[in-house]
Parts: sequence; C-alpha cells; structure tokens
Amino acid sequence: MQRDVVIIGGGQAGLATGYYLRRTGLSFEILDAERGPGGAWRHTWDSLHLFSPARWSSLPGWIMPGGPDTYPTRDEALSYIAEYEKRYHLPVRRPTRVHRVARAYDQLLVATDSGDWSARAVVSATGSWSRPYIPAYAGQELFQGKQLHSAHYRNIGPFAGKRVMIVGGGNSAAQILAEVSQVAETLWVTRREPTFLPDHVDGRDLFDAATRRYLAEQEGRHESEEIEGGLGSIVMVPPVREARERGVLHSIRPFKRLTRHGALWPDGSEREIDAIIWCTGFRPALNHLVDLGVVEAGDVVEVEGTRSVYEPLLWLVGYGEWTGFAAATLIGVGRSARETVKEIAETLA
Ligand code: FAD
Repeated sequence: MQRDVVIIGGGQAGLATGYYLRRTGLSFEILDAERGPGGAWRHTWDSLHLFSPARWSSLPGWIMPGGPDTYPTRDEALSYIAEYEKRYHLPVRRPTRVHRVARAYDQLLVATDSGDWSARAVVSATGSWSRPYIPAYAGQELFQGKQLHSAHYRNIGPFAGKRVMIVGGGNSAAQILAEVSQVAETLWVTRREPTFLPDHVDGRDLFDAATRRYLAEQEGRHESEEIEGGLGSIVMVPPVREARERGVLHSIRPFKRLTRHGALWPDGSEREIDAIIWCTGFRPALNHLVDLGVVEAGDVVEVEGTRSVYEPLLWLVGYGEWTGFAAATLIGVGRSARETVKEIAETLA
C-alpha cells in the first residue's frame, strides 16, 4: 500500500499529527498496534487523575469537555481521545504493528504484521509506554515478593494488608503511593528529595511557564524559571494532597540491594517487603527504527525540531522534551504536530 505519509502510532501524538495532515491534502494512514483508541491511556491505572484541568489537556481543534478547575479522570481522557479520532475521521488502521522502517530509493518502506506500506514521509509517534524502565539493583532476581512497573499497576486490590515499597519520585509514584498507602504499609524510595509543586500550581501553570520560555527562546530572550521544577515535579492533585495530610509523603534514599524477603540499606538496616511498585519511568519505543540506523545510545534519535538529522524522510512526535517542550502531554503535542506537518508539507510540495 502507498501513502504520502504514514504515521506509526495512534495515541495522542499520532492523532494530533493526523489532525493537521487532514488540512494538507496529502494522503496518510495511521498504523496503531493497539486494539482500540487511546494509546498509553488504555493502560493507566483506574483512579489516575490528569495533572491539568480539561482545557489544558486538549488536543488541537477540540477543547476537552470539563470544568476549568477539575482534573479529568483517566476514563474521561480515554473517551475524549476515542471521540477525537472519530470527530476528525482520522484513518487509523489497528491492530497493526510496525516491525521495521527502511529506506527504499526516495521513499521509506514500512513493514508491518499485516503487509508493507511505502511512504514519502514517515512520522514515528510510538510513545514510551511499551518500554517501561526498571533500574538494575543487586538481588533483584532473589526477591520473592511481587514486582511490577507502574505501567502495569491497575488498583489497590493486590496490595491490601501488604508491606509495599514504591520506588520513584514523579507523579506516578505520588499518585500510586497516595492510593496504596490507604490499604497497605508503604515505604517510598526516591533518589533525591521529591519536588512538590505549590498547591495552586498544576499542569496548566507548568505549560504556561514552558510556553513563555519557548516564546522567549524563539525571540532570543532568556525567561527565568519562575516555577521551580518542571513537568517532572509532583502536581498536588487532590488524592496527593490528602496523602500529605495523612503524613505519607516522606521518602528515604535508595537501598543497596534486594534480598529474598526485602531490601538492605548501606547502613546495614533491612526492611521486609511483600511487593515493589517501580514508578521509574519509560524509554521511547524506537525498535522499529533501528534498521534505519538513526537510533543513538540512550534511546534517542538526533533531530532538528522533530525531523531526523540522518533520515530526512523521518519525523518524531510526542516523545518528550527532545522532540519539543511538553511534547509528551496532550496540550503540548499539538504545537510540535503542527510544526511537523508544516515541514512535511513543504518537503513533499
Ligand atoms: P502513546 O499514548 O503511548 O501512544 C503510542 C501508540 O503507538 C500506542 O497506541 C502504541 O500501541 C503504538 N505503537 C507503539 N509501537 C508501535 C509499533 N511498532 N507499531 C504500531 N504502533 C505502535 N499527559 C498529559 O497531558 N496530562 C497528564 O495528566 C498526564 N498524566 C500521565 C500519567 C501517567 C501515569 C503517564 C504514564 C503519562 C501521563 N501523561 C500525561 C503523558 C501521556 O499519557 C503520554 O505522554 C501520552 O500517552 C503519550 O502519547 P503518545 O501518543 O506519544 O504515545
């Protein structure tokens, strides 16, 4: 099959790119490995709250329904993204997994589990959810308790009455700790003191501050960091604030090794643990690009804006700051999708 543009990944980044491509008249197809819409949102835990109110969690063209001061739930985000796909009649083919992308003369060949596509331009928008990251600790293979990454955490069910260690210092860790600590004895481990945003600051302030910095950069000015931390700082959504009132938001520095039934710290102290929830982030899902020879050490692709420096027919959208500030957020991905499509249209004109 042939298209002007093939987008790999039908999550928020792929859809935002499709939204702008519709206006160009270029033929395009979105290939998505999931069985239904929503991308990573399909796999987040039941009680997840977004860290920005609906208006600041919107994709281009359609403001997410919801009040200016309520944090949408994961189900609301999921139904919004599913509705978005329908609303703009975006051509998403799923489930379709892309195995590799290779250069074929003046086009790119996209090999999938249901046939090959050739395209004049490819946008990779595969996110990071499918590559959860767990740091290596001595003794991990010895530990007899339950271990899972936040990507696979759903609810408190399996942890009631247990001794649970939560590792990681970001929003996932804080929200999961807030929930699990209601039914289990919890221990929070972070590499450094976690940074909590002031109660009145949430994702919209971070996005507005990031926009001011972005615009200043565009004009060659320096904008001070008036909000300490960034998207990695913990937003005090209601469940996290409630946990603070319960005195739960205290973390200790990492252990030295895991043992069969717990963890051992450098001072020789040991704690018995029944389960570990690793809230230690993700790596971008780029395996399908390896044969193009563009994936560097550290799982990044060198880009100019969002365009691959070494494969000029390839763009990357939604992977986080290296593909555009706030690009891994619903509201931030719109800007980089718009700039990406503008550049693709100019290139293919
Ligand atoms: P994804 O949503 O992961 O979509 C990528 C799609 O590509 C998936 O459907 C996947 O199946 C598909 N894919 C992957 N590899 C292939 C392949 N080889 N072939 C075909 N298809 C493939 N953002 C906010 O804006 N606000 C928030 O409050 C917020 N909270 C978050 C809380 C958590 C716990 C997490 C994990 C993220 C949160 N985010 C939030 C970020 C946001 O959910 C993700 O950054 C977003 O899902 C990334 O969108 P994406 O389209 O880039 O990737």
